Amino acid sequence: MSKNIAIDGPSGAGKSTLARRLAAKLGFIYVDTGALYRAIALSMLRRNAETEEQIIGSLPELDVTLQYIDGEQHVFANGEDVSGLIRTPEVTMKASRVSAIPEVRKYLFDLQQNLARENSVVMDGRDIGTVVLPNADVKIFLTASPEKRAMRRWLEMQEKNIVGQTYEEVLADVIRRDEQDMNREIAPLKQADDAILVDTSDLNLEESEKLLLKVCKENLEK
Ligand code: C5P
Repeated sequence: MSKNIAIDGPSGAGKSTLARRLAAKLGFIYVDTGALYRAIALSMLRRNAETEEQIIGSLPELDVTLQYIDGEQHVFANGEDVSGLIRTPEVTMKASRVSAIPEVRKYLFDLQQNLARENSVVMDGRDIGTVVLPNADVKIFLTASPEKRAMRRWLEMQEKNIVGQTYEEVLADVIRRDEQDMNREIAPLKQADDAILVDTSDLNLEESEKLLLKVCKENLEK
């Protein structure tokens, strides 16, 4: 039987880094569901699909898949590996917008559920514990203050040489994206009733990892 760990929370809480490390420690597959929404967003930007109608109309022509190459998740859009193209601010904002469209979420729902059925996964996103994997063995809601999250995102962008945004602009984007993700009608970002809240505001990466690993191990053994 596959085991499933769901990690939800706002952007910049450390979800992807921590989920990836946790998966490696536990021998599970890491599934970054944000990359799926980002791949759709990139495809829609390229097609100039702006209105909801245009986006929904383009979905049938789109084939988004995941592959694991040397243990790393790669996301493909119509056969093209777009993993390196989906982290720009433009794609980020578009991803938040396309993800509010019910048809887009429906499109990705089966893909995510099938992955979790066939593999033991650490899956991160916004609605994994609430909608996609309501029966996950462990549910974590990972969060941190907007300022801390913006600073982490900004530092990550510097490391990856993604330039063009100041810290203040990143913070404004974080707050705007929180707004969009928490207040949308469909699958809003919220803590599942049975999720464990982990706030990483005052923890570094190693401390956060240690805490998460402990929480997951305790709950997987239950
Ligand atoms: O996690 P990441 O920042 O890569 O996600 C990009 C966007 O995709 C988020 O702002 C969110 O709106 C959306 N998303 C979502 N549901 C998920 C994962 C991501 O709505 N499970």
